[in-house]
Amino acid sequence: SIPLSFFAGIGGASKAGVLVKGSNYLETLSQTGYVVFDKTGTLTQGVFEVVGIHHAAMEERKLLEYAALAESASSHPISKSLQKAYGKELDRSRVTEVQEISGHGVLAKVDGISVAAGNDKLMARLGIAAVPCHQVGTVIHLAVDGAYAGHILIADVVKPTAKAAMEALRGAGVEKTVMLTGDVRTVAQQVAEELGVDQVYSELLPGDKVAKVEEMLQQKPAKKKLAFVGDGINDAPVLSRADIGIAMGAMGSDAAIEAADVVLMDDDPMKIAKAIRISRKCLRIVY
Ligand code: ADP
Ligand code: MG
Repeated sequence: SIPLSFFAGIGGASKAGVLVKGSNYLETLSQTGYVVFDKTGTLTQGVFEVVGIHHAAMEERKLLEYAALAESASSHPISKSLQKAYGKELDRSRVTEVQEISGHGVLAKVDGISVAAGNDKLMARLGIAAVPCHQVGTVIHLAVDGAYAGHILIADVVKPTAKAAMEALRGAGVEKTVMLTGDVRTVAQQVAEELGVDQVYSELLPGDKVAKVEEMLQQKPAKKKLAFVGDGINDAPVLSRADIGIAMGAMGSDAAIEAADVVLMDDDPMKIAKAIRISRKCLRIVY
């Protein structure tokens, strides 16, 4: 039978905005030694602002329109941000043959013309020479009708509590914090430095994130558990692979909430240390 204190623990956590899906996860949480984070939407807001449009082979507004249209079927934070930047209602009937390539970007036909919107990896896959961007930021390259058309530079901001969350984790005895991201190295390093994340790996494909977590799981002592925190856009497999998967509940995807063991109802990374503390208190009462 499940000790009553576990119910109290789950209840206490839920009052704090942390949904724990079972009493066994309280025990795992109490042993958390490593916390691995996704970046976009987890440590950052996931709301990008357009900071520049460069090397446009067409009018900038037209370039943004192509990007917003090609992205209109995607649920990625980048897509939502481009829609918002465009600002006008989009006629989705102009968009056909949409294909999203995770960790790369999207391919679509807009008015029957092929449009590709994504990173360096996507352009390389298409054999299109992209004009490099030397500014720090996330770059969305556009190719229209098979030719390079320019790039949109976008930037995200860190969540207001993300830095304090890292300190709170250290205070709760977490040995190491790690960030895994598909974004470029310059952006990843800037965020990691700003927040005080111990280790950072960038330019990873969703499959690379799984491989990295598996490597970490093998190298760590069994008693110290590894938590992965993500918003679930592309990272549901990592959420289920970690000792404990923690998902963002408000902005996160349904797949993440499904795959996770713990859900942060308000997407606040501060709640991770809080959940660890609640779990320990509850375990102390049980044993
Ligand atoms: P993160 O690790 O930051 O959550 P993702 O794995 O979702 O990032 O994406 C990694 C990179 O792939 C993004 O930084 C972007 O360059 C590119 N990308 C992914 N999805 C899209 C999209 N819908 N449109 C444009 N670029 C995308
Ligand atoms: Mg992501």
